[in-house]
Amino acid sequence: MACLPEGMSKRKRLYTAGLAGLGLIILVSIYKCGFRSASISGPEDCFFCDFANHRPSSRGPNPNLEVETEEYVIFKDKFPAARHHYLAIPKEHLESFSVLNRSHLGLVQRMELGMKELFKSKNVDPNEAIIGFHIPPFISVKHLHLHGIYPASDMNVLNKINFFSSFWFKKSEDAIQDLESREL
Ligand SMILES: [Zn+2]
Ligand SMILES: [Zn+2]
Repeated sequence: MACLPEGMSKRKRLYTAGLAGLGLIILVSIYKCGFRSASISGPEDCFFCDFANHRPSSRGPNPNLEVETEEYVIFKDKFPAARHHYLAIPKEHLESFSVLNRSHLGLVQRMELGMKELFKSKNVDPNEAIIGFHIPPFISVKHLHLHGIYPASDMNVLNKINFFSSFWFKKSEDAIQDLESREL
């Protein structure tokens, strides 16, 4: 009889520890994001705008572009979570997924398509890749960027949490569905 409540409280303790751990990870992420983006206030002060528009940046040499169109560019993430980790960013300064409306639907669809085509050109099945946006305040840079990552098996636990479909990371297909329901 005494066994049951004890077992339950053990489970409860494990559950609480798990929740506390997750909370800590989220706090650290917010702190890191705030730290990395603290110096950016607008397009004139944004190194992603510099990258996308071929302007010299105060952050050292600009990354080599894997893809460039009139609207967006794609390059390798400076802190890759896996063997393949790319960022697609618009040339226009848009702060994050949260500021987008339905008029941005086409742009996001074309960025997603560009990311998928890039994966295909690297002999990676785009359906196997993780493609999506971080949602504020869980953003590392205040300029809209679509992540494309493969393979998931390369990712450590922290990255798996960081890019886990959730309220802090929206997969591109969910993002497109969300934009379809927004106002113009
Ligand atoms: Zn920008
Ligand atoms: Zn991100």
